[in-house]
Amino acid sequence: MTTSPNIFEINNFSASYRDAEALNDVSLNIPRRGIMSIIGPSGCGKSTLLNSLNRITDLTPDFSHRGDVHFDGQNIYQRDFDVVNLRKNVGLIFQKPNPFPFSVYKNLSLPLKEHGMRNRKEIESTVNESMKIVGLLDEVSNIRRRNATELSGGQQQRLCIARTLTLKPKVLLCDEPCSALDPVSGKKIEDLLVRLGKEISVVVVTHNLAQAKRISDCVAFFCMVEGVGKLIEKGDTQKIFNAAQHHMTREYVDGSFG
Ligand code: ADP
Ligand code: MG
Repeated sequence: MTTSPNIFEINNFSASYRDAEALNDVSLNIPRRGIMSIIGPSGCGKSTLLNSLNRITDLTPDFSHRGDVHFDGQNIYQRDFDVVNLRKNVGLIFQKPNPFPFSVYKNLSLPLKEHGMRNRKEIESTVNESMKIVGLLDEVSNIRRRNATELSGGQQQRLCIARTLTLKPKVLLCDEPCSALDPVSGKKIEDLLVRLGKEISVVVVTHNLAQAKRISDCVAFFCMVEGVGKLIEKGDTQKIFNAAQHHMTREYVDGSFG
């Protein structure tokens, strides 16, 4: 734990799959609170960055990195770093909702049990609180017993967010969380992320520039330069959309490419 205003500090981070570099020399700080959008054309390494932040990339045998990433003051790649604790603190949401194919209640209570919570009342109240935050408690009757696969896509996505929230994360990473949803369901996710961003750090990869404009406090623009993903520019949302410094950023937000 540190008192730094940043929950993540990424320094000269590069990532490769086998011999192919996907991200090159990224230095970026992610604030403890608020929403950061990550924008940029397909293939520029946005997902690679998100996946690196909770080390889910450990599961990709060809993956390697250089540089370092500090979470709450600790280098996440140092030896004997607690990855389980990292993943508890850094939730990851994908484009396609991935609930477990059993009841909503079990979806939400299982991670708690896996992380050692034994007290039934505590489990109950944590599950209820999470369902309430994401708006599922009042929306679906008998929600606890419903099989997650019976829910709509948007509800499944909110269930996945609730599943990370049970663990009281400090960061929520969302990789195109609304791209597979209809606009109404997407708006519910957006509103939820805005609420969560008041308390924790939310990072959203999105191809929807209007959404990035609406919800984010700051924006990081990535793009491919000579075949490798680079961070081109980062700044307050207003600045990136209205007065970006780099011509590639201006062209991307104006819709001239990407
Ligand atoms: P984005 O999310 O911006 O579309 P990605 O991070 O998915 O970009 O991909 C960046 C580059 O890394 C691409 O060239 C992609 O083909 C490559 N890549 C991503 N995941 C893997 C993987 N598991 N194995 C090999 N190459 C990958
Ligand atoms: Mg991606």
